[in-house]
Amino acid sequence: MSTLALETQGLGIRFGAFQAVAEVNLQLQVGARQALIGPNGAGKTTLINLLTGVYKPTAGSIRMNGQDITVHAADRRARNGLARTFQINQLFPSLTPLLSVVLAIHEREGQGATWWRPYQRSTACFDEAHALLKRLRLDALAQVPVAELAYGKQRLLEIALALAARPRILLLDEPAAGVPEDESGELFDVIGELPSDISVLFIEHDMKLVFRFAQRISVLVAGRILTEGAPRDIAHDPRVREVYLGS
Ligand code: ADP
Repeated sequence: MSTLALETQGLGIRFGAFQAVAEVNLQLQVGARQALIGPNGAGKTTLINLLTGVYKPTAGSIRMNGQDITVHAADRRARNGLARTFQINQLFPSLTPLLSVVLAIHEREGQGATWWRPYQRSTACFDEAHALLKRLRLDALAQVPVAELAYGKQRLLEIALALAARPRILLLDEPAAGVPEDESGELFDVIGELPSDISVLFIEHDMKLVFRFAQRISVLVAGRILTEGAPRDIAHDPRVREVYLGS
């Protein structure tokens, strides 16, 4: 059996008396495009925060590429190939996409990255940044200040910054949040075109996008996985329709 990109066993977290996530056994296959759905307050972002090491679980374990990372700090998980984006974007509005990506590459290239390190001064670094922007369909906007980009483009840039770390696993927390409908399709087209060796787990509320892009869907309700499966099975699961789809 192939190693899983991510696997949790009995994962849970309590905030005081409140059990936000409980007994989650989640599996992310290598190269998967997997959606995490569920009503507001179900614990989706909290689960991402557990996976990335923002929160320490109060129960259970997390394995990444077969290695137990439950006690690893967030930066160690990131260095080992786990990247994420946030619901609210974290960009520098006055920088260009090109410089933003170059800075993200600098971050990857070393703790205490400095401007005089050879790779970061080299044209190769800029070539890499341009190639990344091209992959995200942002190459024509490389020199436009971030503040002037359409919101959908800003969200794509966030993904570019996450990819600059060369992750093996990408966790996307509502990548299309706040993006107008006519831009969100393109945004997910780009996510769909990411290299197949990057495993992607994404939170998304728009069911059209979920059913179009996810190969597998995990449904979280009140902190617990209600069910998991192929989109076709999830769409026809009466429990999911009742608690989530509202029909
Ligand atoms: P979702 O992403 O599915 O909308 P969240 O993971 O944001 O849900 O939140 C799940 C529940 O956990 C919510 O009731 C939220 O208030 C609670 N929660 C999340 N983080 C904390 C925290 N740091 N302290 C206390 N409660 C929290």
